[in-house]
Amino acid sequence: MSNICDKTKCTGCMACYNACPRHCISMVYDENGILNPQIQDNLCSGCNICSTVCPVNKDIPVTMPLETYACWDLNNENRKTSSSGGIAFIFYEHFIQNDGIVYGCYYDENLQLKFSKATTLEELGKFKTSKYSQAYIGNIFREIFSMLNNNKNILFIGTPCQIAGLKSYLRKDYDNLITIDLICHGVPSQKFIDEYINSLNLNTFPDNLTFRGLNDFYFVLYKNTDIIYSKKARDDAYYSSFLNGLFYRESCYTCKYACKERISDITIGDFWGLGEKIPFNHDITNGVSVALINTEKGNNFFNNIKDKIFFEKRTLQEAVEGNEQLRHPSIKNKNYEKFKKLYIDYGFEYALKECL
Ligand SMILES: Cc1cc2nc3c(=O)[nH]c(=O)nc-3n(C[C@H](O)[C@H](O)[C@H](O)COP(=O)(O)OP(=O)(O)OC[C@H]3O[C@@H](n4cnc5c(N)ncnc54)[C@H](O)[C@@H]3O)c2cc1C
Repeated sequence: MSNICDKTKCTGCMACYNACPRHCISMVYDENGILNPQIQDNLCSGCNICSTVCPVNKDIPVTMPLETYACWDLNNENRKTSSSGGIAFIFYEHFIQNDGIVYGCYYDENLQLKFSKATTLEELGKFKTSKYSQAYIGNIFREIFSMLNNNKNILFIGTPCQIAGLKSYLRKDYDNLITIDLICHGVPSQKFIDEYINSLNLNTFPDNLTFRGLNDFYFVLYKNTDIIYSKKARDDAYYSSFLNGLFYRESCYTCKYACKERISDITIGDFWGLGEKIPFNHDITNGVSVALINTEKGNNFFNNIKDKIFFEKRTLQEAVEGNEQLRHPSIKNKNYEKFKKLYIDYGFEYALKECL
């Protein structure tokens, strides 16, 4: 397996895969079901670009947020169908209306979570809501590099480690790139989603999956928009294990971005704990986002969308107190090692049943 970086720290960001001039890195599932980069030795020239761009091997500059907002989309329909306050959609919409190109991830018809670009408003729906598995970057960083150099305005939303991968791959700042990271408590492997859905023995293969949004905190599978499986988070084996930190990628438990210093222009997440100490006199039943404005570029961008959202300044302390992932990485479930061992010996279904 990869010797690009310490394997336990590899986030699967695929910066190395994108940077390799000989395209001799492939992504391969290991015995734990985790996707890792693997060098094809017979093609490798030993140039070492892969480990040079790897964000695990260096520190990417981070900044302390300048401002903290509680906010949501004024369009109630969009707010309700997003995970938090629907703020990601507003960022995307503004970009597209101003001739920009945006990136996000979606489950394709085989329920593989992958990144893609969107250039029209019609394409944006697929990016909505949080998907609780790791999204595949593919060649996206290369594509973004080429677009940036063609003076296109680009918006990329992803997990902090994906932003780190992109920045490290690009090697310099671009005025025409805005990065937005999600507060993130960790991602399980795509393989676990595949194996879990397989274990449900449904009559038909689903073509969509949601965790948040309209059916908030339900694991819901669809076929042609009909619901074919739906369970509350705590009653669904995958969802409850996800929330309890049973099977994230190893690196998530030591994530260096799970802190208040941020890697992107703007950070978004759920505003947990809002109003608990300092009163917040607005209805948040349809969802509320926290937005941390981390750079001047982020601030200018946020100012451009203010007429489409409700926003109120809050303190960074309130956001940090309410959100563990702004303080420290997720803590391993006590059955984490047991799950890993059983997975290797008996597969996902058995390991999950034994560790719940
Ligand atoms: C795996 C994961 C863990 C999270 N953990 C926390 C947490 O601990 N605390 C917290 O406050 N918030 C967390 N969030 C963020 C939160 O759930 C919302 O995604 C965020 O607040 C944006 O919501 P929204 O309503 O603005 O937009 P939404 O429409 O809900 O957000 C969609 C955006 O999220 C991106 N996205 C969705 N899934 C993924 C994924 N797997 N990988 C990369 N990008 C993705 C989409 O591409 C799109 O840009 C997490 C999100 C994910 C995906």
